[in-house]
Amino acid sequence: RYQSLAYSHILEIHKQHLSPVRTAYFQKPLLLHQGHMEWLFDSDGNRYLDFFSGIVTVSVGHCHPKVNAVAQEQMERLWHTSSIFFHPQMHEYAEKLSALLPEPLKVIFLVNSGSEANDLAMVMARAYSKKTDIISFRGAYHGCSPYTLGLSNVGSFKMELPSGMGCHSTMCPDVFRGPWGGSYCRDSPVQTIRKCSCVPGRDREEDLSGGVRNLEKDCCQAKEQYIEQFKDTLNTCVAKSIAGFFAEPIQGVNGVVQYPKGFLKEVFELVRERGGVCIADEVQTGFGRLGSHFWGFQTQDVMPDIVTMAKGIGNGFPMAAVVTTSEIAKSLANCLLHFNTFGGSPLACAIGSAVLEVIKEENMQENSQEVGTYMLLKFANLRDEFDIIGDVRGKGLMVGIEMVQDKRSRRPLPLKEVNQIHEDCKDMGLIMGRGGPFSQTFRIMPPMCVTKPEVDFAVEVFRSVLIQHMERRAK
Ligand code: PMP
Repeated sequence: RYQSLAYSHILEIHKQHLSPVRTAYFQKPLLLHQGHMEWLFDSDGNRYLDFFSGIVTVSVGHCHPKVNAVAQEQMERLWHTSSIFFHPQMHEYAEKLSALLPEPLKVIFLVNSGSEANDLAMVMARAYSKKTDIISFRGAYHGCSPYTLGLSNVGSFKMELPSGMGCHSTMCPDVFRGPWGGSYCRDSPVQTIRKCSCVPGRDREEDLSGGVRNLEKDCCQAKEQYIEQFKDTLNTCVAKSIAGFFAEPIQGVNGVVQYPKGFLKEVFELVRERGGVCIADEVQTGFGRLGSHFWGFQTQDVMPDIVTMAKGIGNGFPMAAVVTTSEIAKSLANCLLHFNTFGGSPLACAIGSAVLEVIKEENMQENSQEVGTYMLLKFANLRDEFDIIGDVRGKGLMVGIEMVQDKRSRRPLPLKEVNQIHEDCKDMGLIMGRGGPFSQTFRIMPPMCVTKPEVDFAVEVFRSVLIQHMERRAK
């Protein structure tokens, strides 16, 4: 048992001295003490399976022994030099990271957070294209700095303050909750239970008894419908031209939203026709999390001009990067538009290198593929069992479970009920994330070292919490 400040005292300090915006996430906040790989321990010694990795950040495991050892060694030698000096950790890291990206994405800018990376990508897109307008999806989250706030269209991050000059939001091609879409739209081992709604009236034929594996192929033209929406947005940009388009390969904060197959590829072409560059935000999807590929954009068969990355890059250490082509990078050099005191510190780079080595040495990308697919199918079985699970989706170790009042209406499960399920899972030792416009989707993104028996544990916890919930509901 860990002796420290009393729980009630901590809650008081939080109330008095910490940002009121910082939510506790749970009704009874967790007071964490220690982490080891995919497990967390609270100050009473209770153990929790961390299925959210501290918001998708702990890629290779809490306090991974190799990452810890490398960090300690580097701390004893040199923490910080400022990026105006050279040191081999930075150069070794740049070489290692660039080797993981395809040509021509070879020039790296090191920063400290995802918001900073996206800020810089916005500056780059504008400096290079000499245009101003930028498009992102409704529901997207790309940061909450004053600049990126314009790209983030999650309602809860919008304030009654002017933000986002030149930023446009376009309809999110969400095949489960959006107006068009349905089965076989997306690239996932599990399809939507919703049948195609592209042709008016088609959704009325919905037959929910078919389960995951028996759905017929249908006519889905969701991609074309959403592309038309995107073209409309393009036409509202100044002089019908844009500086850039931001997208996550799979949306995280919006509730693990996957687009129709081939959608991003067509949109990238439209953006380039209008003079813009394409930016893939890999803050959540990168570093092997999606299993089949190291980068999310590779799963969509697209080639971005700029890639931004954070979170998993440092396994929890604050670091981030922007990778681009030498041509785009030069547009910043011409106007000296970038300086960053901490970005690329020896400590950050040593940790970043260790993370890359661990992903490779411990086959973590392969593990994401195998354990992730196993997990997705297990949760899809629960979807067939419970009417309040509307959708199970995702790829690799990025899974979303969307909770609904019932499958037929697809109305989001009321917040009170989702909160209770979330809390009950935590009390039984399972920590999940939340997302989606109504906070109705559980987001599951464990450290990439998670095992199948741990997935079995999580599925059993979730199942027993849902059984209890349904019993409570029936009373
Ligand atoms: N992009 C995405 C996709 C994110 O999920 C986040 C953080 N949730 C960010 C950018 C911003 O990262 P940071 O919090 O490190 O600024």
